[in-house]
Amino acid sequence: VQARTLVIIEDEPDIRKVLEAGFRAAGFRVYAYETGDSGVEGVRVHRPDVVTLDLGLPDIDGYEVARRIRLFSNVYVLMLTARAQEVDVLLGLESGADDYVSKPFRFREIRYRVEALLRRPRLRSDAAGLTDSSLSEPAAETLAPASPVTDRRQVLEHNGLCLRIDSRTVAVDGANVKLTRSEFDLLRALLVSGRAVSTKEDLARVLRGDSSVPDGFGREPDEQVIHVHIANLRKKLGDTALGPRWVETVHGFGYRLAPVVRAHTPDREYA
Ligand code: CA
Repeated sequence: VQARTLVIIEDEPDIRKVLEAGFRAAGFRVYAYETGDSGVEGVRVHRPDVVTLDLGLPDIDGYEVARRIRLFSNVYVLMLTARAQEVDVLLGLESGADDYVSKPFRFREIRYRVEALLRRPRLRSDAAGLTDSSLSEPAAETLAPASPVTDRRQVLEHNGLCLRIDSRTVAVDGANVKLTRSEFDLLRALLVSGRAVSTKEDLARVLRGDSSVPDGFGREPDEQVIHVHIANLRKKLGDTALGPRWVETVHGFGYRLAPVVRAHTPDREYA
């Protein structure tokens, strides 16, 4: 088994050392950077599985780092924020992070979050960073669906949207839409669940690879994370909460797939 690779972007030496030592001991290949610029280059060169990204860096801030990484990579990004302020979290997820941990933290919580990201279904195309739209035969591992997604279809379609699991691509009315892995995984879960309501907790579990949260790591903001990812997803799809074509809000419960919009075929139904 190939060692998993982690890039750490963190300017505080003490925290950097803790993360480096901890993840090395956990069997990761680790590359650490003190600045945003050098960290982005590190991601480009080493193609890690996960990045831990500090928000406050000496040159460019973590939001900008995440945006630059997203221009060329779909790597999982775990943001480390100094404060658990909602605005930090929102901006972080909007700039492309998959999850976050707020300081002060214990190493084992960061490790838990990293492992949860890595527990998500690994698809062959993930390793190559951004996927292209070329379709190939699915690798054997892609045929093993991740719980709770037990659907084996490789192509999911709904109201002009087409999601291809093997190539991890999404197209709306024939035009490709670039999603982060978190957005893709949530959309896939919604397409599979159809009109059955997925609670935010259900969807949080999708992003955690269906693991339960250890004592002490549970938190309200998981729902906030889902809320922001769904908002980003809608924005990228061109969907709206008010007249949804795909993602329908069920107030007080969660989300589900919007109803099928019938194509305008006035005569056929009465024929
Ligand atoms: Ca810092």
